[in-house]
Amino acid sequence: MSTSVDTSVAAGAKYEPVIGLEVHVQLLTATKIFCSCSTRFGAPPNTNVCPVCLGMPGALPVLNRKAVEFATLAAMALNCRINETSIFARKNYFYPDLPKGYQISQYDKPLAEHGFIEVPANGRRKKIGITRVHLEEDAGKSLHEGFPDSAEKTAIDLNRTGVPLIEIVSEPDIATPDEAYEYLTRLKEIILYTGVSDCNMEEGSLRCDANVSVRPRGQKEFGTKTEIKNVNSFRFIREALVYEIGRQVEVIESGGKITQETRLYNANEGKTYGMRSKEQAHDYRYFPEPDLLPLVVDEKWRAEIARSLPELPEARRERMVKEYGITEYDAQVLTFSRSLADQFETAAKAAKNPKRVANLVQGELMGRLKAKGIDIEQSPISMKGVAASADLVEAGAISGKMLKDLYDLCFERGKDFPQVYEDEGRPQQSTDTSALEKIIDEVLTANPRQLEQYRAGKKTMLGFFVGQVMKASKGQANPQLVNELLSKKLE
Ligand code: ADP
Ligand code: ZN
Ligand code: MG
Repeated sequence: MSTSVDTSVAAGAKYEPVIGLEVHVQLLTATKIFCSCSTRFGAPPNTNVCPVCLGMPGALPVLNRKAVEFATLAAMALNCRINETSIFARKNYFYPDLPKGYQISQYDKPLAEHGFIEVPANGRRKKIGITRVHLEEDAGKSLHEGFPDSAEKTAIDLNRTGVPLIEIVSEPDIATPDEAYEYLTRLKEIILYTGVSDCNMEEGSLRCDANVSVRPRGQKEFGTKTEIKNVNSFRFIREALVYEIGRQVEVIESGGKITQETRLYNANEGKTYGMRSKEQAHDYRYFPEPDLLPLVVDEKWRAEIARSLPELPEARRERMVKEYGITEYDAQVLTFSRSLADQFETAAKAAKNPKRVANLVQGELMGRLKAKGIDIEQSPISMKGVAASADLVEAGAISGKMLKDLYDLCFERGKDFPQVYEDEGRPQQSTDTSALEKIIDEVLTANPRQLEQYRAGKKTMLGFFVGQVMKASKGQANPQLVNELLSKKLE
């Protein structure tokens, strides 16, 4: 072992990281936050724009009611207190993709505060505080690539300008990169359940900036933080944090000081690089937006919004475990999305044995999906199909082996179970005793050596014979019946 590894491990134990995350989520409204331009992703550049979102002099913003409702719903799902009155503010800065010269955001009076998300940590549940959830408009996009003639050009697409966002700011409660990963996974899951965003990271509907500092274990004051920007997957955020924590410890251990700055993560190299020293908050010269009234979400409106709050994933899993007698792991898989959970519950309620439905998803469906590289939302066999197959097994109409074969056919043909079952002529497992006895006789005659071993006391040979009979019946025999008949015959 080299000494440098020893020192870095020792240094790692001497310090503890402090992490806080700022997540931007794009709201799924049809139109922008302050004008009626479309928010559609992928439209030709600069086609979804108007004087308001282009920041023309004299154009006035009008607040989108739906954006407020979506933001409030998300904040409620994140256990926040909704402020009856919140204030829009101008955040002033110059950037080519911001034609107004300021972004309309919220500052000292945000829409919502004091929330939390629960994450698993060391086998327990830990609450990560949410400082605030506020509404703001997105900026445009600068495109530095895709110019075959010159690499020095930059193009601006202002379609995204004015698309509604919420920013969700966490407390510096996150203690490890793994916890950050969990927090983001839960956050995304909750937002998806509320339906206010598609959280598509590739399209930029969910973006995360990670703030991180380290301090000597036991010290109360926080160290100086850096902010890692523009990381485009949760896995990369975890990696970037691991790297950045190591870097900060090294700087401090070698007598240096951390500068408060924004850093970029290069996923290919697995390293962060300093980009610019962070503007102090007062540099933005925030002041109340004079063109918008204070936003008032009164009790009546809040109650109305609260009515569309769905059962959230964690609570749903708990209930499903109790209601269907399934494991926590089953529940985790079956709540992958709200629509899958809905489908499962509808199917399971109609099925004779909900537990068997869950078992089939776990035992027969997941492996096939994985082999095909698709997730459960794209499964050829629907939850209804799984339930139908579970009922057939439950009633003894088909054997487990037959079910497996039928599932294979479903995946080959891309068809749901009931369809394939019909197409195959509603196969039934054989309960025809005389036909089975004939097969048993054939199997015993064909395997004299094994028969001798059985007679000599090797009772485990029974399993061998059952297997042979099942095979000879092409899986259509009822295994229980085969067992009975074989035992009788061998006596
Ligand atoms: P800024 O003024 O730089 O935007 P904020 O106080 O608003 O900083 O915090 C931004 C984010 O950084 C929050 O998620 C917060 O929890 C986190 N944060 C604040 N201080 C620290 C620190 N010393 N170390 C790690 N994270 C921090
Ligand atoms: Zn517009
Ligand atoms: Mg801040």
